[in-house]
Order: sequence, then structure tokens, then C-alpha cells
Amino acid sequence: MERIEIKTRESTELIDITGKVKEIVNSKDVDSGICVIFTKHTTTGIIINENESGLKRDILALLNELIPKGKGYLHDRIDDNAHSHLRSVVLGSSVAIPIEKGNLTLGRWQSIFFVECDGPRRREVCVKVVEG
Ligand code: ZN
Repeated sequence: MERIEIKTRESTELIDITGKVKEIVNSKDVDSGICVIFTKHTTTGIIINENESGLKRDILALLNELIPKGKGYLHDRIDDNAHSHLRSVVLGSSVAIPIEKGNLTLGRWQSIFFVECDGPRRREVCVKVVEG
């Protein structure tokens, strides 16, 4: 398994990791298989969508609107970041992408994003390439 280290800069932020994931897949010499991208943190997410600056801001605005900070969440009694955990729940912690002819089968407009929901922090994303 490979790891991608990420140093986030904002409290909430989308970081395109497509290039790094592609590098890992290409280094594996796997013709057909699956690539799993997984975040080990409870206040981050992994999503696939279009890397367009307006859309990225729309996604952050949506997270803010759906799950605003400090809405009386119970977990805020412990460390004041319930909204970060809840955003992670909505986003999900992993994606799986088929590999064909040695490449990720991403669509033309699809990029892989790491989503920081409680930054800035040092983060780690796991990438596992399985042949089959
Ligand atoms: Zn917490």
C-alpha cells in the first residue's frame, strides 16, 4: 500500500490528488484491477467530481449550508469539531476506481479530491492497487 502525505492549509478545503494517484497506479504495472483511495481520518473525505473553481466553492458552500458549525451538536462538548466529523460522514472515506489497460477509468471531467474538514493539518491518504 502506498501513502500520499498532504499538508492542508484551510479549515475546509478540496485538494485534487488525481495526479498523485495516477503516479502510483502507473508505478504498479497493473493492466487490470482496482484502485482504492482511503483516508484514515474522521474529519476528512474522499470524493470524485469536476475540478472547476466555481464548483469547488459551491461544494464548500453546500457543506457549510448542510452542516453549519456549532449547531448544538453533542460532540462539540468534547472538542468543538462535530461539524467536521458530520461533513466527513456525508462525503465518505474512500472511493474505488477500476483500472483498465493500466489506467484509472476516470471520466473526462472526473478528478479525485481529498476534502479537509478540520484543517489545517498534516494528513495521510492510503492508495491500494489490487490486480484482477
Ligand atoms: Zn472530534
